[in-house]
Amino acid sequence: MLLAMAGIDLSLLAGYQAALAQKTQAGQLRRCRELVWTPEAGPMAVRVEGQPAINFSSNDYLGWARHPRLQAGSIQAVQQYGTGSTASRLIGGTNPLVLALEARVAAFKQAEAALVFNSGYQANVAILQAILGPDDWVFSDRLNHASLIDGCLLSKARWTRYRHLDLGHLAEKLARAPVGVRKWVVTDSVFSMDGDYPDLKALVEVAERYGALVMVDEAHATGLFGHGGAGLCQQFGVSDRVALQMGTFSKALGGSGAYVAGPMVLMDWLVNQARGFIYSTAQPPAVLGASLASLDLLQEEPVWRERLWHNVRTLEQGVLAHSLEDWIPLPLKSAIVPVLIGDSARTVAISEALLAAGYFVQGIRPPTVPPKTARLRIALSAAHTDVQIESLCAALAILLRAT
Ligand SMILES: *Cc1c(COP(=O)(O)O)cnc(C)c1O
Repeated sequence: MLLAMAGIDLSLLAGYQAALAQKTQAGQLRRCRELVWTPEAGPMAVRVEGQPAINFSSNDYLGWARHPRLQAGSIQAVQQYGTGSTASRLIGGTNPLVLALEARVAAFKQAEAALVFNSGYQANVAILQAILGPDDWVFSDRLNHASLIDGCLLSKARWTRYRHLDLGHLAEKLARAPVGVRKWVVTDSVFSMDGDYPDLKALVEVAERYGALVMVDEAHATGLFGHGGAGLCQQFGVSDRVALQMGTFSKALGGSGAYVAGPMVLMDWLVNQARGFIYSTAQPPAVLGASLASLDLLQEEPVWRERLWHNVRTLEQGVLAHSLEDWIPLPLKSAIVPVLIGDSARTVAISEALLAAGYFVQGIRPPTVPPKTARLRIALSAAHTDVQIESLCAALAILLRAT
């Protein structure tokens, strides 16, 4: 590789090299590893750089990423509309699949209108940058997803963070903001590295008391919580009081991309102001076809959702059977289950040992999580079998006590 790059003065790259070396030393170097799904070897079977394992690191919560219905939706869309969408929607027009998908999402989220985006990351950055001006105040949970943090930072709004799930702290912060300025409270529903979630009804009440608008990111709740899998806003009965409900097709829904649902006036505002919407080529037909099929499946086959929650309960029983509560506090709240370890090097060592034993459970280290809170992150899927979950617990019990 260096040979091919011989035209670049390598000394100019020395700073990056040194910083990477520092990361390596601190046990914080990240790299992408090859992963191949091997369905012939059973449900959730993969090979991670050649090592066969059961995948506990995928957000494929309902096991739909290879579902024949989604594949058929995708293939049909490609055959009808081709592979590329060729331009942004404002320049190149909007494919009817987009309009169909947005109508479906609006109904699904009990909102007036909806808009789709290429990815959840892009959606959050674009939405927050658009709805927040320099005179606005934004209040965000300290553990919000990086895309929400980046959106707040880019917006230049007055940005305040409250302690994780601490609504008293949120109220305190809101009380300090001037009356009359526009305020937004922004939170994940299910938190991506902790698997917990706020009492959204209480959160909405606090926000309303101070005249603040609310935006909720349902990336890890869509498809799993609420009636028909509509999410936690629906489950808490606050869909009509949350101004923006954002979520993704990329996790439980087995596809790609994101949506936001809310009042028409906000959708119109986003179409006019959200740079990530305006300046990016629209989603391709293959992605749209899969998303539409996933919404059909969600409506028609609640059995997947039930199976996922059965698996959550099975893991809970495994934690009890092996006395793992010190590492995995009960009760479990979602399909994301952190195994709290603390030390980064130890987390990596246990993750590697698990992989060698046939379980792919990713270690999550700072800065993705706060300092000294490194953890393993188990992600459950409806596709996991009882035996796979039970044997993961047995392997964890040995490694957590020995490593
Ligand atoms: C994954 C995730 C996103 C980003 O969605 P992508 O479609 O993967 O870009 C946004 N918010 C939360 C809470 C997430 O977990």
